[in-house]
Amino acid sequence: MSVPQERKLVTQIPGPKSEELHTRTKAAVSAGVGVGLPVYIERAGGGILVDVDGNQLIDLGSGIAVTSVGNAAPKVVERAQAQLEDFTHTCFMVTPYEEYVAVAETLNELTPGTHEKRTALFNSGAEAVENAVKIARSATKRDAIVVFDHAYHGRTNLTMALTAKNMPYKKGFGPFAGEVYRMPMAYPYRWSGDAETITEDAFTAFTNAVHAQVGEEHVAAVLIEPIQGEGGFIVPPKGWLGRIADWCREHGIVFIADEVQTGFCRTGDWFACEAEGVVPDLITTAKGIAGGLPLAAVTGRAEIMDAVHAGGLGGTYGGNPVACAAALGSIETMKDEDLAGKARRIEQIFRERLEAMAEKHGVIGEIRGRGAMMAVEIVTPGTTQPDADLTKKVNAACHRQGVVTLTAGTYGNVLRFLPPLVIGEDLLHEGLDVLDTAFAESL
Ligand SMILES: *Cc1c(COP(=O)(O)O)cnc(C)c1O
Repeated sequence: MSVPQERKLVTQIPGPKSEELHTRTKAAVSAGVGVGLPVYIERAGGGILVDVDGNQLIDLGSGIAVTSVGNAAPKVVERAQAQLEDFTHTCFMVTPYEEYVAVAETLNELTPGTHEKRTALFNSGAEAVENAVKIARSATKRDAIVVFDHAYHGRTNLTMALTAKNMPYKKGFGPFAGEVYRMPMAYPYRWSGDAETITEDAFTAFTNAVHAQVGEEHVAAVLIEPIQGEGGFIVPPKGWLGRIADWCREHGIVFIADEVQTGFCRTGDWFACEAEGVVPDLITTAKGIAGGLPLAAVTGRAEIMDAVHAGGLGGTYGGNPVACAAALGSIETMKDEDLAGKARRIEQIFRERLEAMAEKHGVIGEIRGRGAMMAVEIVTPGTTQPDADLTKKVNAACHRQGVVTLTAGTYGNVLRFLPPLVIGEDLLHEGLDVLDTAFAESL
């Protein structure tokens, strides 16, 4: 690997060159585009980001769960490069090409369920979710879409309506798309009782509310993240997803799993639904799909996907040939290097280390997640009161020591970890050492 797999700090973080670039950013880039850590990256690979000042940072974010195969992964680069030299764009709707078809075939095979499937490709997660909604409405001839508390589905007008959180995603950007209904989410840490009781209570609350407020016969789709991402890595109790999927089937409602963040080996399976044996009607994917190139997909039951009139789906760039080539390289890497297995190993390491930290620092209310999608919820000791300020402090302390961490959660009190699945175990441990120190310093 050409990028040395080692943390190294040669300036303070951010360094002088990054600061200079950040001054240009403030003058040139809309203030609406927030930057979490203004360290400007020059090169990256494996588990390391190299900045313009020569600092080497440990990557526990993967550009928000995107570079699961590592940055500039060899097979991604090789295939994308070859494709760049062949041609860069024709528009699949004008004159098609094989790479798009190959990605569709691969997704039809990899996604849960052995039924006949079809795929359509897009550019971003939000666009995939929008199109899943279009497809479900077209197939069912119904309008209503049911979503959940703490959900995140994107930032376009329709997906803002589907997303739960006001700040920063929705504030001032309305009015939002109609016929979207939000229902309670089974959130074990903030719902009392054991897993079975929570599933039962949450399911009853959910079905009663849909019945009373919407009417099952008006619902086109229920849209859910199998593990909620931006909402704080909320893992629902076992049985919750399956109960909803079964209920959808009973009522002729399309069950859409938004696996934009959880997909492509991130949680230790190809897709997070598999851990519960749930087979969605439609599945949306993006982030981890193409090693960093913009690509997204809706994959699902042939009869639903084919219900849309010809020409009803598409877009100028959807399924760009370079992005498709990158996706084939990324998926090949996941298979060859058993990245699902790596994700499960990463969970083991995180759990062990985070449990030790939780005993030492009383502020960790819960450790949760699956595979290489792990998080801690930070609270006032002895309570479940969210502590967003402390979360920010710990996050900033990690950044100063050259470890890229992210925050999340409806209450801003979740630290989340999304390392590249190819990261070395020594780097993981070093990142966790820094986190441990960051807790000690910040308390
Ligand atoms: C990130 C995300 C999206 C939006 O994807 P973009 O590519 O940013 O548009 C949608 N759903 C989930 C679950 C996500 O994590």
